[in-house]
Amino acid sequence: MQTEPCCNAAQEPVTIRLRGHHFLCLLTYKGLGYTPAFVENMTAVAMRINAGAKVILHAGPDDICGALTPADRAACNHDCAKPETAALDEMAEKATAAVLGHGLDEAFALDAEKVAQLRAAFLTGESRAACGLCRWRAVCDEIAQSGYAHTLLKGAHAA
Ligand code: SF4
Repeated sequence: MQTEPCCNAAQEPVTIRLRGHHFLCLLTYKGLGYTPAFVENMTAVAMRINAGAKVILHAGPDDICGALTPADRAACNHDCAKPETAALDEMAEKATAAVLGHGLDEAFALDAEKVAQLRAAFLTGESRAACGLCRWRAVCDEIAQSGYAHTLLKGAHAA
């Protein structure tokens, strides 16, 4: 479920807010998630990035969290109500900023080159401290090791 229009009045794509650890999760995303509503929204976010919508590294709930249902929140590994979530995002923010050179609230196109840089760092593990005890870790490990086959994020204008 999308919670905001994809475009403004001038039909420019609206910038997508992504919290630190979602820069990791999108790299291995291939349509798996907590509930159908969550998957629908996360897929829409990936497609909007592929279509050229800019992204920003955002502290706190973002455009993926915005579509969480109560069922999603109960199942979510990284819900904001959990004390470890802030620390996890801080680790992911630092790792993402180190790879991309973009800090918090700086809008940029997440193009195919940047996606490849992030995926390379993810594969070596250098950016994955935030994955820590995540329940999806084995799934994401396998996806990364398989060359990110069938993942939905392609990078801006590379869809
Ligand atoms: S292991 Fe968890 S936090 Fe890391 S990319 Fe996968 S889903 Fe996201």
